[in-house]
Amino acid sequence: MSATALKDYKNLVGGELVDGVDGATREILNPATGEVVARVPEGTAADVERAVAAARAARIGWRDTTPGERQERLLAMADVIDRHSEELAALESLNVGKPRSLAAEELPICADELRFFAGAARTLTGSSAGEYGKGYTSFVRREPLGIVGQIAPWNYPLMMAIWKIAPALAAGNVVVLKPSELTPISTLRFAELLADVLPAGVLNVVTGDGPNVGEAIVRHPEIAMVSLTGSVATGKGIARAAADTLKRVHLELGGKAPVVVFDDADPKAVAEGLRVASFVNSGQDCTAAARVLAGPGIYEALLEELVPATASLVVGDPAEGESVEMGPVISARQQERVLGFLDRATSAGAEVLTGGSAGRDAGFFVQPTIVASVDQQAEIVQSEVFGPVVTVQRVDADRAFALANDVPYGLAASVWTRDVGIAMEAVRQLDFGCVWVNDHLPFLSEMPHGGFKESGYGKDLSIYGLEDYTRVKHAMIKLG
Ligand code: NAD
Repeated sequence: MSATALKDYKNLVGGELVDGVDGATREILNPATGEVVARVPEGTAADVERAVAAARAARIGWRDTTPGERQERLLAMADVIDRHSEELAALESLNVGKPRSLAAEELPICADELRFFAGAARTLTGSSAGEYGKGYTSFVRREPLGIVGQIAPWNYPLMMAIWKIAPALAAGNVVVLKPSELTPISTLRFAELLADVLPAGVLNVVTGDGPNVGEAIVRHPEIAMVSLTGSVATGKGIARAAADTLKRVHLELGGKAPVVVFDDADPKAVAEGLRVASFVNSGQDCTAAARVLAGPGIYEALLEELVPATASLVVGDPAEGESVEMGPVISARQQERVLGFLDRATSAGAEVLTGGSAGRDAGFFVQPTIVASVDQQAEIVQSEVFGPVVTVQRVDADRAFALANDVPYGLAASVWTRDVGIAMEAVRQLDFGCVWVNDHLPFLSEMPHGGFKESGYGKDLSIYGLEDYTRVKHAMIKLG
């Protein structure tokens, strides 16, 4: 994109498209080329203050809509996604560097999530009504919390924003959302398209970085809840900062998903599964299949399938065409971080079976990489790399679940076996919020997504996600 085509985006506050309060802007890059493709407002605490004021003005009106009215608005939001899916997919591909086909697949999912929460808005009920004390009747109400602050990551910018916005609005909350400072443009465009769909102030989108805009959201006394999708370090900082106002915290954080492969699995099927599950979105996926723990009887056969399958991935700038299967990582900093993990691992004796370097001069690329000869306590096994890097360990069946669980994270895991008894035992023993059997990565609007341990707390998607954006009130009425 040439400098003349550079687009300036605005924030959505109180139903108006506005520049930042102090007028500063940030340049947004295409990670496949390093070129500037857009400019967005660079916010400060003053932008959060203005957005909270707009949310405050909208709060009671939105709270008092019926669930059916909220359903209609969410269905209209889904229709906006459908009508503009090509444009939104193109923006997502440009800003995140993901293949157009992958970005295009995300849009119907976004619309489906909005439609799920549109319907779910009408299902909220209190769980209990009855005469629990003599002479009294009690019932439970589920209410919105009020103003919810939401902070999104850069890997699936629009989809993560929708995972947050949809349940919050369905439950009757108003929102102040901050996209990632690296990838705000699809969310800003969506917000622009929603200006006439939602009442003014119900959804406010404010751009800026974590220390300025993010922290102002977390510390704001009128914001009742903050929800983050991001790294563990950011999540811990937010939980600490939120303690000062005792706001509710909802954290979807990093992962280091194990892939436990028993000797009776089909090595070709595992390799085909991991070709997608480990490298989709350049491995920048919180549930990415990152650690293979393979039984001694399948280890060699699996590598014989997995290494060529990985090496066959077509890496490139998504603009080069539909054949590109994997783009760059998000930034020069992230590229340096991923390559740093690989340098330290190889210095400690790890063996790179394919990939291992940037592979291109322009853009922020990392080759799809398989690393073997790693110890359980190695940094590359214990820490989230968040790039196209998979470790492979040979493990005996009796230690497989213990080693799978032996990381600080607990977001997602998969087990590959033909034995239903082993599969059921895996589901029971694996300490992760989602366990797949003979697959890795799919998710559903109806089913909860969220982690254990340092992967955070709170659920996205599903009725559990909706409930997380509500508070429970006991009403107790004296009879007679
Ligand atoms: P990040 O933690 O760097 O940033 C996430 C968001 O937090 C950004 O909007 C950022 O500006 C903001 N932020 C940063 N510091 C802040 C602060 N001090 N106060 C308030 N906000 C602050 O994460 P990222 O690099 O954008 O995303 C990658 C991470 O997100 C990975 O760890 C990945 O696993 C995780 N993730 C988790 C899920 C999930 O569902 N569990 C989904 C996607 C991504």
